[in-house]
Amino acid sequence: MTDLEVLIVGGGCHGVGLLHDLASRRVDGVHLVEEKTLSSGTSSRSTKLVHGGLRYLEHLSQWPLVREALNERALLLRLLKGLVQPLPFVLPVFKGDRPAWMLRAGLFVYDSMAGDGGLPRSRKLTGDEIFDAAPYLKRERINEQTTGAFLYYDAQMLDDVIVRVAAEAAKKLGGTYEENASVVEVTPLQNEQGFKVKIKSLSGVRELTTRTVVNASGAWNNSNLLRWGISPKIRCLLNQGSHIIFKTSAITEATPKDSAACLLQNKDGRVVFFIPWNGQWLLGTTESVLPAHSPRGLKPTAEEINYLIDAAELNLNIKTTPEHLAETFAGVRTMPIIDKHQPFKSQELKSEWIDNPFASPAYLQSSEGLNISALSRETVIDEAMPGLFSIYGGKYTTYRAECEKLAASLCRRLGRGGQSTTCTADAWFIQEILQQMPEIFVSSASTRSI
Ligand SMILES: Cc1cc2nc3c(=O)[nH]c(=O)nc-3n(C[C@H](O)[C@H](O)[C@H](O)COP(=O)(O)OP(=O)(O)OC[C@H]3O[C@@H](n4cnc5c(N)ncnc54)[C@H](O)[C@@H]3O)c2cc1C
Repeated sequence: MTDLEVLIVGGGCHGVGLLHDLASRRVDGVHLVEEKTLSSGTSSRSTKLVHGGLRYLEHLSQWPLVREALNERALLLRLLKGLVQPLPFVLPVFKGDRPAWMLRAGLFVYDSMAGDGGLPRSRKLTGDEIFDAAPYLKRERINEQTTGAFLYYDAQMLDDVIVRVAAEAAKKLGGTYEENASVVEVTPLQNEQGFKVKIKSLSGVRELTTRTVVNASGAWNNSNLLRWGISPKIRCLLNQGSHIIFKTSAITEATPKDSAACLLQNKDGRVVFFIPWNGQWLLGTTESVLPAHSPRGLKPTAEEINYLIDAAELNLNIKTTPEHLAETFAGVRTMPIIDKHQPFKSQELKSEWIDNPFASPAYLQSSEGLNISALSRETVIDEAMPGLFSIYGGKYTTYRAECEKLAASLCRRLGRGGQSTTCTADAWFIQEILQQMPEIFVSSASTRSI
């Protein structure tokens, strides 16, 4: 008999989503351990979009993911009013890039997949309508470099807040969690199925036993496995993405707070988002392989900031001097690389990998030969050894659905647990939590400095 049924490592959207889902099924003995504070990893550093991912439609293999994300978009819009809200986007048709007919076809598929998802359908904008929707756009850029624009809808969220609300909801349903504690050892039990786990916190080191472990530590998944003496089976590419938040004062053209977001094209043809967010303006993101070190304390590089400033100055009526920047932050995408031709074989562990796991072969050190934007954003669940699961990659948008699937399979394995209710408002206690703990509804930039 073990102390716990499921021990979850990591308090990002996936760890907390799983805690919430299992608690909603009334599984007893589920505990989550977070090394810093909830959502202090990638889950507070996203572009804050709850979206299907229009551009993923270019790859037929990713259509099921887009469909699932659009279903979740509709569900989260309904369940988490105030935390997830509709957001109109201006999509300019830049000359020399994807032609208007292709964008129109993509939007038609996007709208059709979304069905009656609670958001208006996309449409073509007239010249004046473009600037009515996005007054901050530079007229000469749009008039000379585009052949028009479309308007379509997605949604945006308070990413860090959703994690904290889901954690409180899980607690009300019987799940438990602790912060500022790290899972430092996971060892298989000798005489029964399960694991002995060591947790290091401010009050010292304690031991627990658990039937299953779910490693939901995102970019740290493989480093944790290596430190626990377990060979990862999935290699990852860590891809840094940075954002700038501009103060409202940065925008020189009168721009109402409820203006549309826009997809801007940078000098290299790459697209970045410009989004009204929490009373300010968010610009991002970038893509660069993270060199061999831990993503802890990640900051945007000077090169990334310059790249985003270039995109802003090229497309927007905006002041970009430091006094107009509210904040900059960086996050890291964990991209599981599944190579059917050369599967990553479990390797004999070397001591130097334990000292610097991010420089080990479990992490790709370059994106050579890979088309990063074509890599799937699907969630990959791997069982490195019986009863020890890791959640790799994925999108914030689909976290609830992925956690629901994983919780269902864990319940089958454990032989306990009922139906998930995270798809109903009852499991969220939004009003109750809002009244009891209004402070957790305030999106906090401070978590990002960790
Ligand atoms: C730049 C960027 C933009 C993005 N934009 C979007 C977007 O707009 N929409 C969208 O849907 N998705 C987006 N994503 C993807 C999304 O943010 C991630 O998929 C998601 O946040 C990953 O969450 P996670 O729970 O897997 O990992 P994390 O949020 O990183 O959580 C892992 C946690 O594990 C903890 N941990 C590590 N080791 C231990 C240990 N030994 N013990 C205890 N705790 C430990 C860490 O402290 C961390 O808090 C974006 C990602 C990036 C990088």
